[in-house]
Amino acid sequence: MDADAEVEVSRPPAPDGIVMGRDGMAALVDVLIRRGYTVIGPTVRDGAIVLAELSSADELPYGWGVELEAGRYRLRERPDGAAFANAAGPQSWKSFLHPARVREWSADRAEGALVFSADRAEPPRYAFLGVRPCDLRAIAVQDRVLTGGAHHDPRYERRRSGALLIVVECTEPGATCFCVSMGTGPAAGPGYDLVMTEVADEDGHRFWVRSGSREGAEILAELPARPADPETRETAHANVDTAAERMGRTMPEADLRELMAGTLDAPRWDDVAGRCLTCGNCTMVCPTCFCTTTEDVTDLTGDHAERWRLWDSCFDLDFSRLHGGPVRSSARSRYRQWMTHKLGTWYDQFGSSGCVGCGRCIVWCPVGIDITEEAAALHDWTRSGKPASAPESP
Ligand code: SF4
Ligand code: SF4
Repeated sequence: MDADAEVEVSRPPAPDGIVMGRDGMAALVDVLIRRGYTVIGPTVRDGAIVLAELSSADELPYGWGVELEAGRYRLRERPDGAAFANAAGPQSWKSFLHPARVREWSADRAEGALVFSADRAEPPRYAFLGVRPCDLRAIAVQDRVLTGGAHHDPRYERRRSGALLIVVECTEPGATCFCVSMGTGPAAGPGYDLVMTEVADEDGHRFWVRSGSREGAEILAELPARPADPETRETAHANVDTAAERMGRTMPEADLRELMAGTLDAPRWDDVAGRCLTCGNCTMVCPTCFCTTTEDVTDLTGDHAERWRLWDSCFDLDFSRLHGGPVRSSARSRYRQWMTHKLGTWYDQFGSSGCVGCGRCIVWCPVGIDITEEAAALHDWTRSGKPASAPESP
């Protein structure tokens, strides 16, 4: 679709951005749909704020917040009606850019021959509404992993290249968030098309919106809004600054890569292995985990076969199976692999941390294992030379 032909830009770009109310948010979703985007954003479903296709801004989680703790997620109502005053939910944008199940090809037997068909369906053109700064960084991490190196994933690239990113800065961090110590939030870094900061106070419920790309500026110009006033900008900045001071968790102030490399024999790994169920939840919810496996399926007649790519987890025994059995057969070795990769060897492979501090692995771990607590215990051990004791599981 030729967006330029369909959309009339009504005013020049506002360098300081615009301020819009809920009507502006409604118009934003309508404009995106009119431009041919499939709009994905947060909405309340099944007792959580999930990411799903939106047909209207009314589906945003207005008036909903969340209470997060290790192994615990609860919705709570908010009297201020804010839509984005809630921390990351169970899904991340990788569910759309790097989906959990993708059919790679199928094969059919026809007149004695096998005919193979690659699955090359065009993906939707996504507009992601409500990307958090930590998740913006996670998308950049997956960009590097899946398109920046030797193992290029054309499916990811097709989905990613058409995606419009609308970031919402965080004003209400969860008790499990630690983006500040990972340098990924709560203010937005580069890479967005639009960025907004929500303000809900005695002067009303409004969004301060700025553009980061030409398309973002064109969209902005179509919204019912007024130029950004200094008071709203100051309040928005103050809300983000306050959020930075209210992070629920923090990583120890240490060179994490060095810490991981220097603690491979720490007794803490036995300790965490005694609690870890090796369920793999942490890898499923992590916005940067990218590992996949393949699975072949056939129908009962044997005339049709398909190859599927599925998310995999380094907590699965088969993940490290070579001849004779798995290389990492113990929970200790699997948890250690996951954490030392995230915080240590990821730098060697991809030049950055594999953790962006979103806290999802803490919330969705059924026994409440907390990566910041484990890192702190390892840090204490290196300083004291003594084994750190285990926290009580919830
Ligand atoms: S390791 Fe945990 S906190 Fe870090 S990015 Fe993954 S899910 Fe988020
Ligand atoms: S750390 Fe928690 S979520 Fe991850 S595999 Fe172990 S029990 Fe499951």
